[in-house]
Amino acid sequence: MFFSDEDTIAAISTPLGVGGIGIVRLTGKDSVSIVQNLFTPAKQKNLTTLKTYRVVYGFITDPFSGETVDEVLVTCMKAPASYTKEDVVEISCHGGMTPLRKTLELVLKSGARLAEPGEFTKRAFLHGRIDLSQAEAVLDLIHSKTDESRRIAMEQLRGGLSEKITSMRNRLVEVCANIEAHIDFPEDEIETATYDQVCASLQQMKAKLKRLLGTYEEAKFFREGLSTAIVGRPNVGKSSLLNMLLKKDRAIVTDVPGTTRDVIEEYLNIDGLPLRIMDTAGIRHVEDIAEKEGVRRSLDSIQRADLVIAMFDRSEALRNDDHDIIKKVMNKNTIIVLNKCDLSSRLDISDIRSSITQDWIPILNISATRGDGLDELKAAIVDSCLKDWKEEREGVVISNIRHKTAIEHTIASLRRAEHLLKESQPLEFLALELRDALDSLGEIVGVVTKEDILNKIFSDFCIGK
Ligand code: GDP
Repeated sequence: MFFSDEDTIAAISTPLGVGGIGIVRLTGKDSVSIVQNLFTPAKQKNLTTLKTYRVVYGFITDPFSGETVDEVLVTCMKAPASYTKEDVVEISCHGGMTPLRKTLELVLKSGARLAEPGEFTKRAFLHGRIDLSQAEAVLDLIHSKTDESRRIAMEQLRGGLSEKITSMRNRLVEVCANIEAHIDFPEDEIETATYDQVCASLQQMKAKLKRLLGTYEEAKFFREGLSTAIVGRPNVGKSSLLNMLLKKDRAIVTDVPGTTRDVIEEYLNIDGLPLRIMDTAGIRHVEDIAEKEGVRRSLDSIQRADLVIAMFDRSEALRNDDHDIIKKVMNKNTIIVLNKCDLSSRLDISDIRSSITQDWIPILNISATRGDGLDELKAAIVDSCLKDWKEEREGVVISNIRHKTAIEHTIASLRRAEHLLKESQPLEFLALELRDALDSLGEIVGVVTKEDILNKIFSDFCIGK
């Protein structure tokens, strides 16, 4: 069905269920008149002449039956200073399903159409209030699971990424214009000064984009959770550690996109870093699975892990199984923990140090049951995964695969352009590559966007956002 962007749309914008309040939201040129038609203000107030951002108390009345539906507050945010740059009206109802549904039904009967998923935000984008990367940030913000992912989304929503991309596009436009000027006057050879200038600009842009691209890998942890394997032979204390961590730092995460669901996973929030503990079924219920299967799973999880916590029992000497584990985790991002430090020791940090060549691997004494050394372990986790992250924290971070792909395309075009320039190829070819680079960058902020991409992005939103 074809929906017009001119329609006045409406939806319940709060979660479906019982709550203190629930909001029916409208946007579009008829939103004020539609609500006016259903609304009986407690005092003589006219929504049409009401100043923007004013709240009016009153009742929603069914104009067909005259019945009072709910006691509400109506907020009018008039164009252009609103979320969508159109007239937006919010009806704050009592937060139960029937008052909300009934109010929405009346709004729809009076001329609004039900909003598509993300259509409010899409309008904000179409009307130029936010660009595409900011629209995507709205979604990221809603779905953020930790403080750090919220911060990344907020920075993007604030326009941090947009500013960076726009300033790079402006620079690229200048370079393009410079090259195209030489095409228009073919008798003018490109002078050495211009050549040097263009070359330097391309290289600088490439370097900047590569740095930006680098932030994607680290931000991946915040998006998907850092996949973590706790490994060690039976009875060293793996499930005790997991339980201790879960007690204090269990994350409220229930659904992280793109993660496999075939093994049971638990989520931890370590200083804002989401940890996805792999194969917790294997950790917790070793007795339920055959020993061999347990070992296979454990090895498999080591391979797929971004971080391995290798655990040994400090109250016993190292066994062959322990040595096998040490060998297997050596080339991974590993933290070694010697558990049961509350008992008398048969094993020392120096014993482990002497069996490994990787002297940067942290080795810590802990007690999984008493909690000793837990803070040090958490600090080591954050440190080992985010070595360079802290300096980047203030900056812009790429966290979206669409942006990553667009930046990769831009870098590839710039690389080809540089090559053409160095090979003294016709300037037309060079200009074409630069135009391509410009388009790829433009996709991020939505200056150049295909309809299907827009539809895909906004369909991930919920209705009412
Ligand atoms: P898993 O098989 O590696 O998961 O080991 P468990 O977590 O089931 O622990 C095995 C046994 O060691 C249990 O009886 C735990 O109570 C005990 N245990 C685990 N951590 C500690 C610790 O730090 N100190 C002491 N004294 N006992 C521990």
